[in-house]
Amino acid sequence: MECRAFFGRGVSLCCGTWTVLTRVPAMKCLLVSDLHYTLKQFDWVYSVADSFDAIIIAGDHLDIVAIAAKEAQIVVILKYLQRLAGRTRLLVSSGNHDLSSTNDAGEKVAKWLARARGAGAAIDGDSLEIDDTLFTICPWWDGPLLREEVGAQLARDAQRRTGAWVWVYHAPPDQSPVSWIGKKHLGDEYLLRWIGEYQPDIVLTGHIHQSPFRQGGSWADRIGTTWVFNAGRQIGPCPTHVVFDTTAKRAMWFSLAGNEIVPLDQPLNRPFAEYDEGA
Ligand SMILES: [Zn+2]
Repeated sequence: MECRAFFGRGVSLCCGTWTVLTRVPAMKCLLVSDLHYTLKQFDWVYSVADSFDAIIIAGDHLDIVAIAAKEAQIVVILKYLQRLAGRTRLLVSSGNHDLSSTNDAGEKVAKWLARARGAGAAIDGDSLEIDDTLFTICPWWDGPLLREEVGAQLARDAQRRTGAWVWVYHAPPDQSPVSWIGKKHLGDEYLLRWIGEYQPDIVLTGHIHQSPFRQGGSWADRIGTTWVFNAGRQIGPCPTHVVFDTTAKRAMWFSLAGNEIVPLDQPLNRPFAEYDEGA
């Protein structure tokens, strides 16, 4: 794939900001999240990596109730992230299961994820420009100070936005079908406010595993002009996932419950159309 070769060349990292120096004519991205130390699902992501210009893993790489100790999980997951970053552009954010230490303010952070940056991944706190699309990767915030940092990060990137703007953020926004658990919403109210304030083009999330599968829930929503996605979580070797095609301006969701497609250049219209890959 032409774009794949490109990713190995025109990218530079400066003070947590990735800059791509050459134009990408088209971009195909994969969103997965909440793999929760399901190694067969990491294997699947690796097996398809060559087909995508960018892969986004939106948090909860580890699992706090897994049998393996957290430190052992971290070693294994870092190896996966390193291998993935060797094949395509990789963007990873932390989730609530990934917190391994505390910062100076006593708030929990996924400090280990910084080692994935050394392997070539863009992570929490980074901003990544691919063509004219700006990606902002936000950490899971566990307290008011980190939340303020996320707010400052978004305010800073709002100033440099020139084309499309995409956020990677583990929790989905509150009051949306993508944060619906069947009886109520369990989303992030601050994210909802930030979306209202900045109106990014796309927000890529996870965290609420059941939202796409519950009556009243969904894998996709539109808040103002912002598209929001939460692929959800399923058992088996293939994770639920969303594929974005920025050329065709469409997003497709793949799951054991079926596949759906939404056109990104049209207003949100439920129910979404079924997507038949072979059609
Ligand atoms: Zn999760």
